[in-house]
Amino acid sequence: MRTVVTGGAGFLGSHLCERLLADGHEVLALDNFLTGTPHNVAHLMENDAFRLVKADVTDYVHVPGPVDQVMHFASPASPIDYLQLPIETLKVGSTGTLHALGLAKEKGARFLLASTSETYGDPQVHPQPETYWGHVNPVGPRGVYDEAKRYAEALTMAYHRTHGVDTAIVRIFNTHGPRMRPNDGRAIPAFTSQALTGKPITVAGDGSQTRSIIYVDDLIEGILRLLRSDLTGPVNIGNPHETSVLHLAETIKRLTGSNSEIVFIDRPVDDPSIRQPDITVAKRDLGWEPKVQFEEGLARTIGWFGEHSDLVVV
Ligand code: NAD
Repeated sequence: MRTVVTGGAGFLGSHLCERLLADGHEVLALDNFLTGTPHNVAHLMENDAFRLVKADVTDYVHVPGPVDQVMHFASPASPIDYLQLPIETLKVGSTGTLHALGLAKEKGARFLLASTSETYGDPQVHPQPETYWGHVNPVGPRGVYDEAKRYAEALTMAYHRTHGVDTAIVRIFNTHGPRMRPNDGRAIPAFTSQALTGKPITVAGDGSQTRSIIYVDDLIEGILRLLRSDLTGPVNIGNPHETSVLHLAETIKRLTGSNSEIVFIDRPVDDPSIRQPDITVAKRDLGWEPKVQFEEGLARTIGWFGEHSDLVVV
């Protein structure tokens, strides 16, 4: 099996490459290092089955030789990144997805799109099943990410219906684990870095908004089961354990043994109030459900940040 992973030097892409290699795949990672870094896959470079090529998938995607699977993970993904890189985010979701789909079509490969729970926007249905169409503000600042992914989903289905490309769409819910950037604006790295350095833990709004977080190993297992199935999707992969952002901050404070105080800051525009995956489809059709418990997963991520204190910037 030869698998192309776009965005392979990012947080999730690097875990995906690692797991694909462990499963005996040959892996070609394409990345322009916009929000990822070669350091994330430095430990894989010795492996003859792994190659990392610097490439912007919005320019073109050309891969010589056979390809069995294309996994399209390239995209800024954290709010700070896509708010700073709005055009790049829209381009990689549109033109980048077009090129990645073109590669899958040319090679007769299975294509998997990394979509997101953000396609549900600020949801009015709870928990969110795949059949929910979402509640997204297209002209708000977050629209650049949400709508890029919604367009990418539509394009994927068009290639499936029109060209018969074997496609799958995964809707990923908030994931955490090693190799997240401490200053990427997501709650877990931010709270952990703040707690570890004794700085105030900054909770947006009153912290009553909810999130459902999944540990990266569980997510990758779910994605690979989808890849190896014949499902088209979309399929939600996330952990239905729902927590308020304030409880998340308090838990991280306790697990790090920190004396940081919890302070409240303004809530970002269009920040979703609730978020919880309905994983009935993944359970029934993939035999998958998350295994890593809430505190156990947080302890692992915190442990990694603790060992990489050089990265902790707030
Ligand atoms: P990340 O920023 O760590 O990784 C994205 C990678 O894509 C980076 O290495 C970046 O350099 C690369 N990239 C961006 N534009 C590119 C381009 N034009 N050409 C080539 N490479 C490019 O983010 P992540 O958290 O690993 O997210 C990976 C994917 O999963 C994204 O598509 C994201 O939308 C999706 N996702 C992630 C989460 C999450 O919780 N992490 C949730 C939902 C969806």
